[in-house]
Amino acid sequence: MKIFRSSLFFALCSAVLGAEPAQTVFVNGNIYTMNERQPRAEAIAVKDGRIVFVGSNADAKKYQSAETKTVDLAGKTVVPGLTDSHCHIFGIGEREMNLNLEGANTLEDFLAKVKERVPKTERGKWITGRGWIETFWKPPQFPTRADLDKIAPDNPVFLTRADGHAAIANSAALRIAKIDKETTNPFGGEILRDKQTGEATGMLLDHAQGLVSKNIPGPTEAERREAFVVGVKRELSLGWCEIQNAGSNLDDLPPMRQALEAGQCKLRVFNAVYAPGPSGAALLHDGPTLNQYDHRFTQRTIKVVFDGALGSRGAALLEPYSDAPETSGYLTQKEEELRPIFEEALRRGIQIETHAIGDRANRVILDLYEKAMKAVPPEQRKILAPRWRVEHAQILSAPDLPRFAKLGVIASMQPSHAISDLFFAPSRLGKERLAGAYSWQSLLKSGAVVTGGSDAPVERGEPMIEFYAAVARKSIKGESADGWHPEEAVSREQALKMFTLAPAYAAFEEKDRGSIESGKLADLTVLSAEIMKIPAPEILKTNCAMTVIGGEIVYEAPH
Ligand SMILES: [Zn+2]
Repeated sequence: MKIFRSSLFFALCSAVLGAEPAQTVFVNGNIYTMNERQPRAEAIAVKDGRIVFVGSNADAKKYQSAETKTVDLAGKTVVPGLTDSHCHIFGIGEREMNLNLEGANTLEDFLAKVKERVPKTERGKWITGRGWIETFWKPPQFPTRADLDKIAPDNPVFLTRADGHAAIANSAALRIAKIDKETTNPFGGEILRDKQTGEATGMLLDHAQGLVSKNIPGPTEAERREAFVVGVKRELSLGWCEIQNAGSNLDDLPPMRQALEAGQCKLRVFNAVYAPGPSGAALLHDGPTLNQYDHRFTQRTIKVVFDGALGSRGAALLEPYSDAPETSGYLTQKEEELRPIFEEALRRGIQIETHAIGDRANRVILDLYEKAMKAVPPEQRKILAPRWRVEHAQILSAPDLPRFAKLGVIASMQPSHAISDLFFAPSRLGKERLAGAYSWQSLLKSGAVVTGGSDAPVERGEPMIEFYAAVARKSIKGESADGWHPEEAVSREQALKMFTLAPAYAAFEEKDRGSIESGKLADLTVLSAEIMKIPAPEILKTNCAMTVIGGEIVYEAPH
Protein backbone atom coordinates (compact mmCIF):
# COMPACT_ATOMS: atom_id res chain seq x y z
CA MET A 1 0.00 0.00 0.00
CA LYS A 2 2.83 2.35 0.95
CA ILE A 3 4.67 1.67 -2.29
CA PHE A 4 1.52 2.21 -4.27
CA ARG A 5 0.92 5.55 -2.56
CA SER A 6 4.40 6.92 -3.09
CA SER A 7 4.50 5.85 -6.72
CA LEU A 8 1.13 7.48 -7.24
CA PHE A 9 2.54 10.62 -5.58
CA PHE A 10 5.50 10.76 -7.96
CA ALA A 11 3.25 10.05 -10.91
CA LEU A 12 1.09 13.00 -9.93
CA CYS A 13 4.10 15.29 -9.42
CA SER A 14 5.62 14.47 -12.75
CA ALA A 15 2.23 14.97 -14.37
CA VAL A 16 2.18 18.51 -13.03
CA LEU A 17 5.87 19.33 -13.60
CA GLY A 18 6.15 17.94 -17.08
CA ALA A 19 2.55 18.61 -18.02
CA GLU A 20 1.72 18.41 -21.67
CA PRO A 21 -0.27 21.38 -22.92
CA ALA A 22 -4.03 21.03 -22.85
CA GLN A 23 -6.39 22.00 -25.64
CA THR A 24 -8.66 24.00 -23.36
CA VAL A 25 -8.18 25.37 -19.85
CA PHE A 26 -11.12 26.71 -17.88
CA VAL A 27 -10.03 29.19 -15.19
CA ASN A 28 -11.59 31.35 -12.45
CA GLY A 29 -14.41 28.92 -11.72
CA ASN A 30 -16.27 28.29 -8.48
CA ILE A 31 -16.06 24.56 -9.09
CA TYR A 32 -17.89 21.82 -7.18
CA THR A 33 -16.19 18.64 -8.35
CA MET A 34 -18.26 15.97 -6.50
CA ASN A 35 -14.91 14.26 -5.98
CA GLU A 36 -14.54 13.69 -2.22
CA ARG A 37 -10.74 13.84 -2.37
CA GLN A 38 -10.76 17.31 -3.95
CA PRO A 39 -14.22 18.81 -3.52
CA ARG A 40 -13.47 22.36 -4.72
CA ALA A 41 -11.30 23.84 -7.47
CA GLU A 42 -10.75 26.90 -9.65
CA ALA A 43 -9.47 25.48 -12.91
CA ILE A 44 -9.89 22.49 -15.24
CA ALA A 45 -7.64 21.45 -18.13
CA VAL A 46 -9.00 19.35 -20.98
CA LYS A 47 -7.31 17.23 -23.61
CA ASP A 48 -8.97 14.98 -26.19
CA GLY A 49 -12.36 15.34 -24.54
CA ARG A 50 -11.15 14.31 -21.10
CA ILE A 51 -10.12 16.15 -17.98
CA VAL A 52 -6.35 16.09 -17.44
CA PHE A 53 -6.13 18.48 -14.50
CA VAL A 54 -8.34 19.89 -11.73
CA GLY A 55 -6.94 22.43 -9.27
CA SER A 56 -5.90 26.03 -8.79
CA ASN A 57 -5.55 28.77 -11.42
CA ALA A 58 -1.81 28.90 -10.65
CA ASP A 59 -1.22 25.18 -11.22
CA ALA A 60 -3.35 25.25 -14.37
CA LYS A 61 -0.76 27.52 -16.00
CA LYS A 62 1.43 24.46 -16.50
CA TYR A 63 -1.14 23.17 -19.00
CA GLN A 64 -1.38 26.38 -20.99
CA SER A 65 0.66 26.91 -24.14
CA ALA A 66 0.27 29.27 -27.09
CA GLU A 67 -2.17 26.83 -28.71
CA THR A 68 -4.29 26.34 -25.60
CA LYS A 69 -7.71 27.96 -25.56
CA THR A 70 -8.38 29.64 -22.21
CA VAL A 71 -11.97 30.09 -21.03
CA ASP A 72 -12.51 32.57 -18.21
CA LEU A 73 -15.42 31.35 -16.09
CA ALA A 74 -15.55 34.73 -14.30
CA GLY A 75 -16.23 33.24 -10.88
CA LYS A 76 -19.31 31.33 -12.03
CA THR A 77 -20.42 28.12 -10.33
CA VAL A 78 -19.47 24.94 -12.17
CA VAL A 79 -20.84 21.47 -11.47
CA PRO A 80 -20.23 18.13 -13.18
CA GLY A 81 -22.27 17.98 -16.42
CA LEU A 82 -25.85 17.42 -15.29
CA THR A 83 -27.79 14.33 -16.34
CA ASP A 84 -31.56 14.00 -16.64
CA SER A 85 -32.02 10.36 -15.56
CA HIS A 86 -35.51 10.10 -16.99
CA CYS A 87 -37.00 12.03 -19.87
CA HIS A 88 -38.48 11.44 -23.30
CA ILE A 89 -36.41 13.25 -25.89
CA PHE A 90 -38.80 12.91 -28.86
CA GLY A 91 -41.68 14.12 -26.68
CA ILE A 92 -39.60 17.13 -25.62
CA GLY A 93 -38.98 18.06 -29.26
CA GLU A 94 -42.58 17.36 -30.29
CA ARG A 95 -43.84 19.56 -27.45
CA GLU A 96 -41.89 22.43 -29.01
CA MET A 97 -43.26 21.61 -32.48
CA ASN A 98 -46.95 20.70 -31.82
CA LEU A 99 -49.83 22.30 -29.95
CA ASN A 100 -48.29 22.88 -26.55
CA LEU A 101 -50.98 22.92 -23.88
CA GLU A 102 -48.64 23.53 -20.95
CA GLY A 103 -49.67 26.38 -18.72
CA ALA A 104 -53.38 26.24 -19.68
CA ASN A 105 -54.56 27.30 -16.24
CA THR A 106 -58.31 27.02 -16.85
CA LEU A 107 -60.61 24.92 -19.04
CA GLU A 108 -61.29 28.12 -21.01
CA ASP A 109 -57.55 28.71 -21.59
CA PHE A 110 -57.18 25.12 -22.73
CA LEU A 111 -60.12 25.37 -25.15
CA ALA A 112 -58.91 28.74 -26.45
CA LYS A 113 -55.55 27.20 -27.40
CA VAL A 114 -57.28 24.37 -29.27
CA LYS A 115 -59.73 26.79 -30.96
CA GLU A 116 -56.82 28.78 -32.33
CA ARG A 117 -55.57 25.64 -34.12
CA VAL A 118 -58.86 24.78 -35.82
CA PRO A 119 -58.82 27.39 -38.66
CA LYS A 120 -55.13 26.57 -39.28
CA THR A 121 -55.91 22.86 -39.76
CA GLU A 122 -57.49 21.43 -42.89
CA ARG A 123 -61.03 20.09 -42.44
CA GLY A 124 -60.92 16.44 -41.43
CA LYS A 125 -57.22 16.49 -40.43
CA TRP A 126 -56.12 15.57 -36.94
CA ILE A 127 -55.40 18.13 -34.24
CA THR A 128 -53.03 16.70 -31.66
CA GLY A 129 -51.32 18.26 -28.68
CA ARG A 130 -50.00 17.63 -25.23
CA GLY A 131 -49.41 19.19 -21.85
CA TRP A 132 -52.74 19.94 -20.15
CA ILE A 133 -53.27 19.27 -16.43
CA GLU A 134 -56.82 19.69 -15.13
CA THR A 135 -55.83 19.66 -11.46
CA PHE A 136 -55.17 23.41 -11.64
CA TRP A 137 -58.61 24.12 -13.11
CA LYS A 138 -61.68 25.09 -11.13
CA PRO A 139 -63.33 22.68 -10.75
CA PRO A 140 -60.41 20.25 -11.30
CA GLN A 141 -62.40 18.05 -13.71
CA PHE A 142 -61.37 16.26 -16.89
CA PRO A 143 -62.49 17.96 -20.11
CA THR A 144 -65.16 16.12 -22.17
CA ARG A 145 -65.65 15.46 -25.85
CA ALA A 146 -68.64 17.86 -25.72
CA ASP A 147 -66.26 20.71 -24.76
CA LEU A 148 -64.15 19.95 -27.83
CA ASP A 149 -67.09 19.23 -30.18
CA LYS A 150 -68.28 22.83 -29.70
CA ILE A 151 -65.03 24.29 -31.03
CA ALA A 152 -63.84 21.52 -33.38
CA PRO A 153 -66.78 19.62 -34.87
CA ASP A 154 -65.08 18.76 -38.17
CA ASN A 155 -61.58 17.73 -37.09
CA PRO A 156 -60.68 14.70 -35.03
CA VAL A 157 -58.95 16.00 -31.88
CA PHE A 158 -56.67 14.02 -29.54
CA LEU A 159 -54.96 15.87 -26.70
CA THR A 160 -52.67 14.07 -24.31
CA ARG A 161 -52.50 14.99 -20.63
CA ALA A 162 -49.04 16.19 -19.51
CA ASP A 163 -48.30 12.84 -17.86
CA GLY A 164 -48.96 10.90 -21.08
CA HIS A 165 -51.21 8.48 -19.20
CA ALA A 166 -54.53 9.99 -20.30
CA ALA A 167 -55.96 11.83 -23.29
CA ILE A 168 -59.15 13.55 -24.32
CA ALA A 169 -60.69 12.79 -27.73
CA ASN A 170 -63.62 14.56 -29.39
CA SER A 171 -66.58 12.79 -31.01
CA ALA A 172 -64.99 12.83 -34.47
CA ALA A 173 -61.92 11.02 -33.09
CA LEU A 174 -64.05 8.49 -31.20
CA ARG A 175 -66.03 7.79 -34.39
CA ILE A 176 -62.83 7.05 -36.31
CA ALA A 177 -61.71 4.73 -33.49
CA LYS A 178 -65.20 3.13 -33.46
CA ILE A 179 -65.55 3.73 -29.73
CA ASP A 180 -69.17 3.70 -28.59
CA LYS A 181 -71.29 2.61 -25.64
CA GLU A 182 -70.57 -1.07 -26.34
CA THR A 183 -66.78 -0.83 -26.56
CA THR A 184 -65.16 -2.72 -23.70
CA ASN A 185 -62.09 -1.43 -21.83
CA PRO A 186 -58.82 -2.81 -23.18
CA PHE A 187 -56.45 -4.53 -20.73
CA GLY A 188 -54.56 -1.93 -18.71
CA GLY A 189 -56.78 0.95 -19.76
CA GLU A 190 -60.15 2.55 -19.26
CA ILE A 191 -62.70 4.40 -21.39
CA LEU A 192 -64.30 6.88 -18.99
CA ARG A 193 -68.10 6.93 -19.30
CA ASP A 194 -70.91 9.23 -18.32
CA LYS A 195 -72.41 7.86 -15.09
CA GLN A 196 -76.01 8.41 -16.31
CA THR A 197 -75.90 7.55 -20.01
CA GLY A 198 -72.95 5.14 -20.14
CA GLU A 199 -71.60 7.01 -23.20
CA ALA A 200 -67.86 7.58 -23.51
CA THR A 201 -66.90 11.03 -22.19
CA GLY A 202 -63.90 11.17 -24.52
CA MET A 203 -61.38 10.61 -21.70
CA LEU A 204 -59.15 7.62 -22.34
CA LEU A 205 -56.78 6.29 -19.72
CA ASP A 206 -53.51 4.43 -20.38
CA HIS A 207 -53.92 1.60 -22.91
CA ALA A 208 -57.36 2.92 -23.95
CA GLN A 209 -55.54 5.85 -25.59
CA GLY A 210 -54.18 3.43 -28.18
CA LEU A 211 -57.69 2.77 -29.55
CA VAL A 212 -57.64 6.34 -30.92
CA SER A 213 -53.93 7.08 -31.29
CA LYS A 214 -53.34 4.10 -33.61
CA ASN A 215 -55.53 5.90 -36.17
CA ILE A 216 -53.46 9.08 -36.17
CA PRO A 217 -50.98 9.18 -39.05
CA GLY A 218 -47.54 9.14 -37.46
CA PRO A 219 -44.87 11.73 -38.15
CA THR A 220 -42.54 11.06 -41.09
CA GLU A 221 -38.96 9.98 -40.42
CA ALA A 222 -37.82 13.51 -41.30
CA GLU A 223 -40.26 14.94 -38.72
CA ARG A 224 -39.03 12.44 -36.13
CA ARG A 225 -35.46 13.49 -36.74
CA GLU A 226 -36.43 17.14 -36.47
CA ALA A 227 -38.19 16.45 -33.14
CA PHE A 228 -35.07 14.72 -31.84
CA VAL A 229 -32.77 17.54 -32.94
CA VAL A 230 -35.10 20.21 -31.54
CA GLY A 231 -35.27 18.31 -28.25
CA VAL A 232 -31.48 17.94 -28.08
CA LYS A 233 -30.97 21.65 -28.70
CA ARG A 234 -33.35 22.54 -25.89
CA GLU A 235 -31.62 20.16 -23.46
CA LEU A 236 -28.20 21.65 -24.17
CA SER A 237 -29.49 25.19 -23.59
CA LEU A 238 -30.72 24.11 -20.16
CA GLY A 239 -27.36 22.67 -19.11
CA TRP A 240 -28.10 18.97 -19.50
CA CYS A 241 -25.02 17.07 -20.73
CA GLU A 242 -26.66 13.64 -20.82
CA ILE A 243 -30.23 12.42 -20.99
CA GLN A 244 -31.41 8.96 -20.14
CA ASN A 245 -34.22 8.40 -22.62
CA ALA A 246 -36.91 6.46 -20.79
CA GLY A 247 -38.22 4.34 -23.62
CA SER A 248 -38.01 4.15 -27.40
CA ASN A 249 -39.22 1.96 -30.23
CA LEU A 250 -37.32 0.47 -33.15
CA ASP A 251 -38.42 3.30 -35.46
CA ASP A 252 -36.88 5.89 -33.10
CA LEU A 253 -33.42 4.54 -33.81
CA PRO A 254 -32.88 5.66 -37.44
CA PRO A 255 -33.63 9.36 -36.74
CA MET A 256 -31.40 9.26 -33.65
CA ARG A 257 -28.55 7.59 -35.50
CA GLN A 258 -28.86 9.95 -38.47
CA ALA A 259 -28.65 12.98 -36.18
CA LEU A 260 -25.68 11.51 -34.30
CA GLU A 261 -23.86 10.65 -37.51
CA ALA A 262 -24.48 14.14 -38.91
CA GLY A 263 -23.06 15.72 -35.75
CA GLN A 264 -26.48 17.21 -34.92
CA CYS A 265 -26.48 15.68 -31.44
CA LYS A 266 -23.77 16.81 -29.06
CA LEU A 267 -25.81 15.54 -26.12
CA ARG A 268 -24.96 12.17 -24.57
CA VAL A 269 -27.92 9.83 -24.95
CA PHE A 270 -28.43 6.76 -22.78
CA ASN A 271 -31.30 5.03 -24.50
CA ALA A 272 -33.82 2.51 -23.15
CA VAL A 273 -36.13 0.47 -25.38
CA TYR A 274 -39.65 -0.68 -24.62
CA ALA A 275 -40.59 -4.25 -23.79
CA PRO A 276 -42.53 -6.47 -24.11
CA GLY A 277 -42.53 -6.09 -27.88
CA PRO A 278 -40.21 -6.09 -30.90
CA SER A 279 -37.88 -3.31 -29.61
CA GLY A 280 -37.05 -5.12 -26.38
CA ALA A 281 -36.78 -8.44 -28.21
CA ALA A 282 -34.23 -6.91 -30.60
CA LEU A 283 -32.09 -5.62 -27.72
CA LEU A 284 -32.22 -9.00 -25.96
CA HIS A 285 -31.14 -10.64 -29.21
CA ASP A 286 -28.45 -8.15 -30.33
CA GLY A 287 -27.07 -7.22 -26.91
CA PRO A 288 -25.99 -3.80 -25.66
CA THR A 289 -24.49 -0.94 -27.71
CA LEU A 290 -21.89 0.95 -25.66
CA ASN A 291 -20.34 4.42 -26.02
CA GLN A 292 -20.90 4.87 -29.76
CA TYR A 293 -20.27 8.22 -31.48
CA ASP A 294 -17.59 9.23 -29.01
CA HIS A 295 -19.55 8.27 -25.86
CA ARG A 296 -22.73 9.85 -27.16
CA PHE A 297 -24.94 6.80 -27.55
CA THR A 298 -25.40 3.81 -25.29
CA GLN A 299 -28.27 1.34 -25.38
CA ARG A 300 -28.29 -1.38 -22.73
CA THR A 301 -31.65 -0.95 -21.01
CA ILE A 302 -35.18 -2.28 -21.37
CA LYS A 303 -38.05 -0.07 -20.23
CA VAL A 304 -41.26 -1.61 -18.92
CA VAL A 305 -44.35 0.43 -18.04
CA PHE A 306 -46.02 -1.39 -15.17
CA ASP A 307 -48.90 0.88 -14.10
CA GLY A 308 -50.59 4.18 -14.89
CA ALA A 309 -50.21 7.55 -13.21
CA LEU A 310 -51.60 9.04 -10.04
CA GLY A 311 -53.29 12.04 -11.69
CA SER A 312 -55.59 9.85 -13.80
CA ARG A 313 -55.92 7.26 -10.99
CA GLY A 314 -54.19 4.61 -13.07
CA ALA A 315 -51.35 4.03 -10.58
CA ALA A 316 -51.80 0.55 -9.07
CA LEU A 317 -52.42 0.87 -5.33
CA LEU A 318 -52.63 -1.79 -2.64
CA GLU A 319 -55.81 -0.16 -1.27
CA PRO A 320 -58.49 1.85 -3.14
CA TYR A 321 -58.03 5.53 -3.96
CA SER A 322 -59.11 7.76 -1.09
CA ASP A 323 -61.10 10.00 -3.44
CA ALA A 324 -62.50 7.18 -5.64
CA PRO A 325 -63.09 4.09 -3.47
CA GLU A 326 -64.40 2.12 -6.47
CA THR A 327 -60.90 1.89 -7.99
CA SER A 328 -57.35 1.06 -6.95
CA GLY A 329 -55.76 1.52 -10.38
CA TYR A 330 -54.30 -1.23 -12.50
CA LEU A 331 -51.12 -2.98 -13.62
CA THR A 332 -50.41 -2.52 -17.33
CA GLN A 333 -48.31 -5.66 -17.91
CA LYS A 334 -48.77 -9.31 -17.10
CA GLU A 335 -46.23 -10.86 -14.75
CA GLU A 336 -45.90 -14.03 -16.80
CA GLU A 337 -44.90 -11.99 -19.84
CA LEU A 338 -42.20 -10.13 -17.94
CA ARG A 339 -40.59 -13.08 -16.19
CA PRO A 340 -38.77 -14.57 -19.25
CA ILE A 341 -37.66 -11.09 -20.37
CA PHE A 342 -36.15 -10.34 -16.97
CA GLU A 343 -34.33 -13.66 -16.77
CA GLU A 344 -32.91 -13.32 -20.29
CA ALA A 345 -31.85 -9.75 -19.48
CA LEU A 346 -29.74 -11.03 -16.57
CA ARG A 347 -28.07 -13.60 -18.81
CA ARG A 348 -27.41 -10.99 -21.52
CA GLY A 349 -26.21 -8.12 -19.32
CA ILE A 350 -29.25 -5.96 -20.07
CA GLN A 351 -30.46 -3.46 -17.50
CA ILE A 352 -34.18 -3.33 -16.67
CA GLU A 353 -35.99 -0.15 -15.71
CA THR A 354 -39.66 -0.26 -14.81
CA HIS A 355 -42.18 2.54 -14.45
CA ALA A 356 -43.94 1.90 -11.14
CA ILE A 357 -45.91 4.65 -9.41
CA GLY A 358 -48.43 3.00 -7.07
CA ASP A 359 -47.42 1.03 -3.97
CA ARG A 360 -48.84 -2.15 -5.52
CA ALA A 361 -46.88 -1.70 -8.75
CA ASN A 362 -43.71 -1.09 -6.73
CA ARG A 363 -44.23 -4.15 -4.53
CA VAL A 364 -44.99 -6.48 -7.43
CA ILE A 365 -42.06 -5.24 -9.53
CA LEU A 366 -39.62 -5.66 -6.62
CA ASP A 367 -41.03 -9.18 -6.20
CA LEU A 368 -40.44 -9.86 -9.91
CA TYR A 369 -36.90 -8.48 -9.81
CA GLU A 370 -36.15 -10.63 -6.76
CA LYS A 371 -37.60 -13.75 -8.39
CA ALA A 372 -35.57 -13.19 -11.57
CA MET A 373 -32.36 -12.74 -9.55
CA LYS A 374 -33.07 -15.99 -7.71
CA ALA A 375 -33.82 -17.81 -10.96
CA VAL A 376 -30.59 -16.57 -12.59
CA PRO A 377 -27.83 -16.79 -9.95
CA PRO A 378 -24.69 -14.61 -10.26
CA GLU A 379 -22.63 -17.28 -12.06
CA GLN A 380 -25.18 -17.34 -14.90
CA ARG A 381 -25.30 -13.55 -15.26
CA LYS A 382 -23.28 -11.43 -17.63
CA ILE A 383 -23.07 -8.63 -15.04
CA LEU A 384 -22.90 -9.55 -11.37
CA ALA A 385 -24.74 -6.52 -10.00
CA PRO A 386 -27.29 -5.70 -12.70
CA ARG A 387 -28.24 -2.22 -11.31
CA TRP A 388 -31.89 -2.57 -12.22
CA ARG A 389 -34.03 0.49 -11.71
CA VAL A 390 -37.53 1.46 -10.73
CA GLU A 391 -38.65 4.61 -12.51
CA HIS A 392 -40.66 6.97 -10.28
CA ALA A 393 -40.85 4.66 -7.20
CA GLN A 394 -43.42 7.21 -6.17
CA ILE A 395 -45.59 5.59 -3.52
CA LEU A 396 -44.00 2.94 -1.35
CA SER A 397 -45.53 0.82 1.35
CA ALA A 398 -43.29 0.88 4.46
CA PRO A 399 -42.09 -2.76 4.19
CA ASP A 400 -41.00 -2.23 0.58
CA LEU A 401 -38.82 0.85 1.12
CA PRO A 402 -35.75 -0.99 2.48
CA ARG A 403 -35.94 -3.53 -0.35
CA PHE A 404 -34.38 -1.08 -2.84
CA ALA A 405 -31.08 -1.02 -0.96
CA LYS A 406 -31.30 -4.72 -0.14
CA LEU A 407 -31.80 -5.79 -3.76
CA GLY A 408 -29.43 -3.16 -5.16
CA VAL A 409 -32.33 -1.61 -7.09
CA ILE A 410 -31.90 2.05 -8.06
CA ALA A 411 -34.77 4.45 -7.38
CA SER A 412 -35.04 6.81 -10.36
CA MET A 413 -37.13 9.71 -9.08
CA GLN A 414 -38.34 13.08 -10.34
CA PRO A 415 -38.40 15.81 -7.69
CA SER A 416 -40.77 17.99 -9.74
CA HIS A 417 -43.46 15.28 -9.58
CA ALA A 418 -43.68 15.86 -5.84
CA ILE A 419 -44.29 19.58 -6.26
CA SER A 420 -46.74 19.11 -9.17
CA ASP A 421 -48.67 16.36 -7.39
CA LEU A 422 -48.79 18.39 -4.17
CA PHE A 423 -52.26 19.63 -5.12
CA PHE A 424 -53.94 16.30 -5.76
CA ALA A 425 -51.84 13.54 -4.15
CA PRO A 426 -53.24 14.17 -0.64
CA SER A 427 -56.83 13.64 -1.84
CA ARG A 428 -55.92 10.63 -4.02
CA LEU A 429 -53.87 8.89 -1.32
CA GLY A 430 -55.04 10.14 2.08
CA LYS A 431 -52.69 11.21 4.83
CA GLU A 432 -51.37 7.80 5.84
CA ARG A 433 -50.04 6.81 2.43
CA LEU A 434 -48.29 10.18 2.00
CA ALA A 435 -45.74 8.90 4.53
CA GLY A 436 -44.31 6.64 1.80
CA ALA A 437 -44.73 9.06 -1.10
CA TYR A 438 -41.79 10.77 -2.85
CA SER A 439 -39.58 9.46 -0.02
CA TRP A 440 -36.20 10.63 -1.30
CA GLN A 441 -34.55 11.09 2.07
CA SER A 442 -35.84 7.81 3.52
CA LEU A 443 -34.58 5.92 0.48
CA LEU A 444 -31.16 7.58 0.73
CA LYS A 445 -30.99 6.82 4.46
CA SER A 446 -31.86 3.20 3.74
CA GLY A 447 -28.75 3.02 1.55
CA ALA A 448 -30.48 3.07 -1.84
CA VAL A 449 -29.08 4.93 -4.83
CA VAL A 450 -31.56 7.66 -5.81
CA THR A 451 -31.02 9.10 -9.26
CA GLY A 452 -32.81 12.27 -10.36
CA GLY A 453 -34.74 13.11 -13.49
CA SER A 454 -37.48 15.35 -14.80
CA ASP A 455 -39.75 13.06 -16.86
CA ALA A 456 -40.02 15.87 -19.44
CA PRO A 457 -42.31 16.46 -21.31
CA VAL A 458 -44.48 15.30 -18.40
CA GLU A 459 -42.78 18.10 -16.45
CA ARG A 460 -40.98 21.17 -17.77
CA GLY A 461 -37.62 19.37 -17.69
CA GLU A 462 -35.44 22.17 -16.35
CA PRO A 463 -32.54 21.21 -14.08
CA MET A 464 -33.03 24.16 -11.74
CA ILE A 465 -36.72 23.31 -11.21
CA GLU A 466 -35.65 19.76 -10.30
CA PHE A 467 -32.86 20.95 -7.99
CA TYR A 468 -35.20 23.43 -6.28
CA ALA A 469 -37.97 20.81 -5.90
CA ALA A 470 -35.53 18.35 -4.33
CA VAL A 471 -34.20 20.78 -1.72
CA ALA A 472 -37.35 22.87 -1.07
CA ARG A 473 -40.10 20.26 -1.57
CA LYS A 474 -42.46 23.17 -2.11
CA SER A 475 -44.34 24.39 -5.17
CA ILE A 476 -42.70 26.98 -7.39
CA LYS A 477 -44.70 29.61 -5.49
CA GLY A 478 -43.38 28.26 -2.17
CA GLU A 479 -46.54 26.40 -1.17
CA SER A 480 -46.62 23.12 0.72
CA ALA A 481 -49.50 20.81 1.62
CA ASP A 482 -50.74 19.56 4.93
CA GLY A 483 -48.81 16.40 5.86
CA TRP A 484 -46.35 16.87 3.00
CA HIS A 485 -43.35 15.48 4.91
CA PRO A 486 -40.80 18.30 4.61
CA GLU A 487 -38.24 15.92 6.18
CA GLU A 488 -38.12 14.03 2.87
CA ALA A 489 -36.42 17.02 1.19
CA VAL A 490 -32.70 16.51 0.51
CA SER A 491 -29.61 18.65 1.09
CA ARG A 492 -28.03 20.55 -1.79
CA GLU A 493 -25.11 18.08 -1.88
CA GLN A 494 -27.56 15.17 -2.04
CA ALA A 495 -29.55 16.93 -4.76
CA LEU A 496 -26.43 17.59 -6.82
CA LYS A 497 -25.46 13.95 -6.44
CA MET A 498 -28.89 12.92 -7.78
CA PHE A 499 -28.08 14.66 -11.07
CA THR A 500 -24.36 13.80 -11.36
CA LEU A 501 -22.82 10.79 -9.59
CA ALA A 502 -26.05 8.84 -9.16
CA PRO A 503 -27.07 8.92 -12.85
CA ALA A 504 -23.51 7.97 -13.81
CA TYR A 505 -23.79 4.92 -11.55
CA ALA A 506 -27.31 4.19 -12.83
CA ALA A 507 -25.86 4.09 -16.36
CA PHE A 508 -22.67 2.10 -15.51
CA GLU A 509 -20.74 5.28 -16.41
CA GLU A 510 -19.10 6.16 -13.08
CA LYS A 511 -15.60 5.68 -14.53
CA ASP A 512 -16.32 8.27 -17.23
CA ARG A 513 -18.83 10.70 -15.76
CA GLY A 514 -20.46 12.08 -12.61
CA SER A 515 -17.61 14.10 -11.14
CA ILE A 516 -14.96 16.56 -12.23
CA GLU A 517 -11.70 14.65 -11.93
CA SER A 518 -8.74 13.72 -14.08
CA GLY A 519 -9.44 10.95 -16.53
CA LYS A 520 -13.18 11.55 -16.80
CA LEU A 521 -15.02 13.03 -19.78
CA ALA A 522 -14.94 16.83 -19.64
CA ASP A 523 -18.66 17.47 -19.16
CA LEU A 524 -19.47 20.66 -17.23
CA THR A 525 -22.54 22.70 -16.45
CA VAL A 526 -21.81 26.38 -15.72
CA LEU A 527 -24.54 28.24 -13.84
CA SER A 528 -25.48 31.90 -13.50
CA ALA A 529 -25.73 31.73 -9.69
CA GLU A 530 -24.18 29.98 -6.66
CA ILE A 531 -26.85 27.29 -6.28
CA MET A 532 -25.16 25.65 -3.30
CA LYS A 533 -25.59 28.82 -1.18
CA ILE A 534 -28.34 31.15 -2.46
CA PRO A 535 -31.82 31.13 -0.84
CA ALA A 536 -33.93 28.31 -2.32
CA PRO A 537 -36.40 30.49 -4.29
CA GLU A 538 -33.44 32.07 -6.13
CA ILE A 539 -32.48 28.66 -7.51
CA LEU A 540 -35.50 29.03 -9.81
CA LYS A 541 -34.02 32.24 -11.27
CA THR A 542 -30.71 30.53 -12.00
CA ASN A 543 -29.91 29.83 -15.64
CA CYS A 544 -27.41 27.77 -17.53
CA ALA A 545 -24.52 30.02 -18.54
CA MET A 546 -22.55 27.41 -20.46
CA THR A 547 -22.78 23.73 -21.34
CA VAL A 548 -19.52 21.87 -21.98
CA ILE A 549 -19.46 18.33 -23.36
CA GLY A 550 -16.17 16.55 -23.91
CA GLY A 551 -14.40 19.88 -23.39
CA GLU A 552 -16.36 21.54 -26.19
CA ILE A 553 -18.64 24.51 -25.43
CA VAL A 554 -21.92 23.30 -26.93
CA TYR A 555 -24.08 26.08 -25.51
CA GLU A 556 -23.34 29.54 -24.21
CA ALA A 557 -26.01 31.91 -22.88
CA PRO A 558 -26.28 35.20 -24.76
CA HIS A 559 -24.44 37.88 -22.81
ZN1 LIG B 1 -41.53 8.93 -18.19
